[in-house]
Amino acid sequence: MMGGIMEIFARRLLGMPDTWEVFRFQTEGHGVPKDWYEFEGCIPIGKGKLKYRKGTDRAHVMFSREQIDAFIPQWEQETDKCSDCLGAGQTVAGWSRETGTRYRPCDKCRGTGRPEEK
Ligand SMILES: [Zn+2]
Repeated sequence: MMGGIMEIFARRLLGMPDTWEVFRFQTEGHGVPKDWYEFEGCIPIGKGKLKYRKGTDRAHVMFSREQIDAFIPQWEQETDKCSDCLGAGQTVAGWSRETGTRYRPCDKCRGTGRPEEK
């Protein structure tokens, strides 16, 4: 599960719903040009290891760094959310057996969850 703004953009390009998830991601090489990304995903079915294999609407999409850079400010304006933490105001800082998942305020928005004021 990749998450993040890249996944949102991939969905948008493909016209897929929010349930569509990226399970494979590739940067340059293997047929992907420099500064381009390739994403493959589907709508998972069930839980566990096989959820992507059993999933429906499997599709892949390629886009360039330029395209995602143009999409980010547009998405922030549309949603009024920070594109790094997707409005949550925090990012995962780490995980340990004792404490579980630890969070810290998002670096980009400093915990507000809102886009930077211009
Ligand atoms: Zn943020």
